[in-house]
Amino acid sequence: MLEQKINEVFGDDEPSGFGTGWWSGILSAFFGSLALGAVLCLHFPQVLTSPELRAYYPMPIMRLLIQALIVGAIIFGVASAILRRKKILGLTGMMLALLATLLGGASVQINEPLHSGPAIGLDWFLLDMLLMTLIYSPIEVLWPAYPKQSVFREDWLLDIGYFLSTHLPIQITSFLILLPATQLTTYLAIPGLLEAMGRLPWLVQFFLAILVADLCEYVIHRVFHTVPFLWRFHAIHHSSKALDWIAGSRSHLVDDVVVRAFMLIPMMFVFPHDIIVAYLFFVTLHATWTHCNFGPTLKWLEPYLILPRYHHWHHTSQKEAIDKNFAIHFPWIDRIFGTHYLPKDDSWPQTYGLHNEKMPAGFWAQTFYPFTRRRRA
Ligand SMILES: [Zn+2]
Ligand SMILES: [Zn+2]
Repeated sequence: MLEQKINEVFGDDEPSGFGTGWWSGILSAFFGSLALGAVLCLHFPQVLTSPELRAYYPMPIMRLLIQALIVGAIIFGVASAILRRKKILGLTGMMLALLATLLGGASVQINEPLHSGPAIGLDWFLLDMLLMTLIYSPIEVLWPAYPKQSVFREDWLLDIGYFLSTHLPIQITSFLILLPATQLTTYLAIPGLLEAMGRLPWLVQFFLAILVADLCEYVIHRVFHTVPFLWRFHAIHHSSKALDWIAGSRSHLVDDVVVRAFMLIPMMFVFPHDIIVAYLFFVTLHATWTHCNFGPTLKWLEPYLILPRYHHWHHTSQKEAIDKNFAIHFPWIDRIFGTHYLPKDDSWPQTYGLHNEKMPAGFWAQTFYPFTRRRRA
């Protein structure tokens, strides 16, 4: 398997703490790949960048960012090569940065006029990957709930594959969600409702948006757990044996699109555009955070807002918490519907993953899994 190969090529038995050249090597390889991907986006913007996002890029800042990634990859690569006996990780990062530079680096000009049309969201994948890693990886390394869990746990590459699979076809997925949403809202919209909502203070609107979204999420999430055919899609999200921020992105495309549409369509009837955009930012940050391998818990906040420990119990394979904790923002929604489970002793689950069910390995086998497997008894 590819993951084993990577571990063999880049891994070694030396310690991986700070100052051993391990993290500098990882950062070098990571920055190098991002820089190379970004330079490719500059070369082939028509095919590789999402038309919806192009208009919003402050290009001078993006170019500065690419330059910083190249310089970072080289500095960390040199540090790693000096500190560590096995040099390949640092060298790989430097090679990627060198390749990005040879291809023109940050100064590649975009000469063709760009028009909308089919494109792959490589830009969105690279940016979100960088942003999420910068936000969540440090807190997972500094304050983990499971200190023994490595960033490169089993299936880490699979989860990057899932992250890729939800980011590259952004045009198709947003079309699948927005088409029914705009159709429905054009015919069924209640103008008075939107106007009345717009008159409320911004924070109240925002809170109500989270509430409406979470009630929708609760319903559709519970349906995905209850209807056997739908469970086969959602089982993929539950197949992670360990959780961290990237494990949260393991989800079947059908699961992802249906849940987002089910939340967004009702919201579009009630909330103005800016509130929906603000909510989309919030849900990305909050839902990703609740999957983090992040230990600290604020006792006083736990009853009101979902913290990682709460969603981790949703992912356990321990009998006592199966089909519990469906909400993603407000735990008291589960309390109201009788599906709340959170041990008072601050404990975390012992085991994660599916209960009495086997999931095939690999992205494509899992993608076809819902269609091939016979119904549960
Ligand atoms: Zn679930
Ligand atoms: Zn989850």
